[in-house]
Amino acid sequence: MMSTLLQNVGDWHTHNYRCKHATGEIDEYIIHAIRKRLAIIGLSDHFPISYASEDNSLRLQKFAMAFNEVEEYLAEAKRLKAYYKNKIDVKIGFEVGYLEGKEAQYFNRITSLNGSIDYIIGSVHTVKLEGKYWGLKNEDLENIIKKYGAHVVYAKYFETVRKMLLSEKFELDIIGHLDFIKNGKESPQLNDFILEKIYELIPYIKERDVVVEINTQGMRNGYKKLYPCKKVVRMLYDHDIPVLLSSDAHSPGDVGFGFTEVMNYIKELGYASVIGFNKRKKVSYGVN
Ligand SMILES: [Zn+2]
Ligand SMILES: [Zn+2]
Repeated sequence: MMSTLLQNVGDWHTHNYRCKHATGEIDEYIIHAIRKRLAIIGLSDHFPISYASEDNSLRLQKFAMAFNEVEEYLAEAKRLKAYYKNKIDVKIGFEVGYLEGKEAQYFNRITSLNGSIDYIIGSVHTVKLEGKYWGLKNEDLENIIKKYGAHVVYAKYFETVRKMLLSEKFELDIIGHLDFIKNGKESPQLNDFILEKIYELIPYIKERDVVVEINTQGMRNGYKKLYPCKKVVRMLYDHDIPVLLSSDAHSPGDVGFGFTEVMNYIKELGYASVIGFNKRKKVSYGVN
C-alpha cells in the first residue's frame, strides 16, 4: 500500500475497453485507484478520430471510441463519479490525438462538451508527411524512419507538437507524453537532438499555458523510463512549467504505476505542487 505521499495526487490519464486497444471497465480503473490511495482518477479515453478513407492505412478506427459512444461514456463516467464520490474524486476528460490539418473538425465537437468535461489531454500520435498520416508506433514508425530518416521524422514530430500548441482550433489543457516519438527506445545518437527540440518548444508550452504530464507508461515496458525523460522533467522545472502524473493505463492494474518514485523525484527537483483540472480550470494540489 502506498503512503500518504500520494494523498493529493491523481492519475490523470486512463483508458478503458471503449478505445478497442485497452481492457477493463471504467469502474475497475476507479477501484484500482482507490486501492492505491490516489486522491483523484482522471478518465481520459481516446476521443473519436475523424478519419477519411485515405487515412485508413492508419487503422484509426481501432484507436478510439466511435462518435456515437461519446454520450454513453460521459453518462457512465458521471454516474461512477457520483457513486464513488466519498472514496475518490473522479474527473472526466478525453485524450485527443492531434491530426495536423483536421483541427477545425474537432473544435465544435469538443467545445460542445465543455460543460461535461474537466480536461483535455492533447497528444501527437501521428505525423503528416507528404500529405499522408503516419502512426508513430513500432513498425509504422520504423517504416517512416526507413523512408525519411530519423532526424526528419523526429523533427516533424516536434514540429507537430508545436502546431498543436499554436492551433487556436485545437483545445487542450495537458500535453500527453511529450517525447512519445521515442517509442520506448533510447537512441543515444538522437538524445541531444530530442532535448534541443523540446527546449525549442518551451516558449510555446509557456505561451499556451498548458500542463505537461509525466507519464509512467514507459516504466512498464522495456524502456524503463518516463515520458518525458528525467532530463526533460528537469528542464520543465527550470522553466516553471507545471506538471501532473499519469499512468496512461490501458489495463486497470496500470493505474498509479510508478507514482511513488515519480513523486519522490519531482519533490526532489523542487516541485511543491501538481496540477489538476476541474471543468477545464487549473487546480493546484500541494505535495509537501
Ligand atoms: Zn491508447
Ligand atoms: Zn497517447
